[in-house]
Amino acid sequence: MKPKIKIPLKLKLFLPVSLIIIIVVVLSTTIIINKSISGFNDQIKSTLQLEVKTISKMFERESILKLDKVQSNLKVAHELFYQEKLTVLDDSVRMSVENQETGEKSDVYLKKWIRGNEILNDSNDFVDKLETIIGGTITVFQKSDSGFVRISTNVRKPDSTRAIGTFIPNESPVIQSILAGKTYYGRAIVVDKWYTTAYEPIIINGETAGMLYVGDKEKDLSELKEILNSLHIGNSGFPFVFDKNGLILIHPYLEGQTWPECSFYDQVKGKKEGVIDYEHKGKNKTVAFLYFDKFEVYIAATIDKDVENHDMVHDSIKGAVLVAALSIFLLLIFIYRFTTEKLYKYFNALQISNKKLASAESALKRSEQLANMGQISAGIAHELNNPLGVITMYSNIVMDELKPDDPLRDDMQIIVTQAERCKNIVGGLLNFARKNKLKVVEIDIVEFVRSSLNSVVIPDNIKTSIKSELHDPYVMIDSEQMLQAFTNIEKNAVEAMPDGGLLEFFVTGNAKEVEIKIKDSGCGIEAENMDKLFTPFFTTKEIGKGTGLGLPLVYGIIKMHKGKIAVESNTDKEKAPTGTTFKITLPRIN
Ligand code: ADP
Ligand code: MG
Repeated sequence: MKPKIKIPLKLKLFLPVSLIIIIVVVLSTTIIINKSISGFNDQIKSTLQLEVKTISKMFERESILKLDKVQSNLKVAHELFYQEKLTVLDDSVRMSVENQETGEKSDVYLKKWIRGNEILNDSNDFVDKLETIIGGTITVFQKSDSGFVRISTNVRKPDSTRAIGTFIPNESPVIQSILAGKTYYGRAIVVDKWYTTAYEPIIINGETAGMLYVGDKEKDLSELKEILNSLHIGNSGFPFVFDKNGLILIHPYLEGQTWPECSFYDQVKGKKEGVIDYEHKGKNKTVAFLYFDKFEVYIAATIDKDVENHDMVHDSIKGAVLVAALSIFLLLIFIYRFTTEKLYKYFNALQISNKKLASAESALKRSEQLANMGQISAGIAHELNNPLGVITMYSNIVMDELKPDDPLRDDMQIIVTQAERCKNIVGGLLNFARKNKLKVVEIDIVEFVRSSLNSVVIPDNIKTSIKSELHDPYVMIDSEQMLQAFTNIEKNAVEAMPDGGLLEFFVTGNAKEVEIKIKDSGCGIEAENMDKLFTPFFTTKEIGKGTGLGLPLVYGIIKMHKGKIAVESNTDKEKAPTGTTFKITLPRIN
């Protein structure tokens, strides 16, 4: 029965429950991923914006440091410049000059400036000496009609000649500030490079006659570049920097180039900050940007949305699969251990109790049947007992009166023997009907079993053995009646082993009862006969040999002792060795 219920029941529970778990996990993963994707795009934007802000902070700090440096450089330059007296010669000299922004050339007339012994218009000694002290760029400007002209400078043109004669036009904010008598700090194009700069007016006779300039080359962003180039955003993102003219200053692979026409730069130009989505070579990109006005550059950060989404989905699925697999595994173990195991046990217990119920029912039926039979048998036996007594008595009298050689004597002998046999049968019936009273005494049961074997003829080819595990062998029984019961069982066993075999006794027990197993290695009892064993007159033996009253007698005697009797038997040689075991349980006290 066990394997029949075991597999289908477990599978029945196992499969649907694991299927439900898988479905639930797959559904929830899909929902979570879908939700995450929409949230993820917002997250990408805010991450990029945060990145851009962080980088601008770095730039801010850098610009403050630069400005500090330039301020102190200007102080040094100022001190040194005014250590010598500055005088202006009366006569003017013509000078060919060039507008640094337009490249336009013209002639201007300038007066010569003398500082100590040095004619500034013809010498660069002061600026070169200053350069060795403070570094960077230094220029002395002289005011002209068109703008402020470099008369002494260490600033070089692209052809590496000194930028003397180039001028900053009057429209420039630097000049506006200087003409208003203010020092100008900030950034400026010096010839063609951006510098963090400081300009201070040179006042002669109460009028702004020129300006003193110091500058620190600013677009040397090498340090920032290094930091920025090492920054990664997600799996596909990076920061980059370009100036307001579209010249790319920091970028992993476009540095030095200018944004082409119709690129995202068109959407950025002129704006202070923002986030835009745009397509580039079939890729969906998001860019956050911010204009950093002190350096006049755009700080930007970009990310490839598809890559990030794909990676995110990939990662989520991987994670979900792992979690799902793990939880399925754990849940299945849980289900297996606590659900199926329990249910299986429950069903098993149910089956066992059903079986017990059925066997109790059949036992009840049988004992009812046997009880009825007992009543009838007792009645018949009682009625037969007296006439049988009369037959026996009179046939014996007749026998006595017959001469020894009388031919009737043999016939008479048959009547006497058969009458005796009838009396035995009737006695057996009376025993079965429990009409006899018990006379119990304390008996060593193991000893009793041993001596019972003496009352039975046991052929040499049958070996007997008695094994006892009893600590206390004493039981209250009616030994005379119990002997009948045991000898009947033993006789049956011997009769079932015509070719010899084993007759074994196992005695066990506890404080309340003892159990005696009587096991033979005989032919066994057919399954269909098992229910009829204790019914009077059931026999498989030929007429004259078996009466079918042995086991009913045994049953009656055991019942009188308030004991139990059970039989197990096997007739199938293929399955196990054949044989029959009777199990008798007797209460120690009845
Ligand atoms: P009888 O021995 O007169 O046939 P029993 O009541 O003693 O009557 O036994 C009834 C039947 O039960 C027997 O005929 C036999 O078929 C079967 N039987 C009893 N004990 C055994 C046994 N140990 N091995 C095989 N069959 C048995
Ligand atoms: Mg018998």
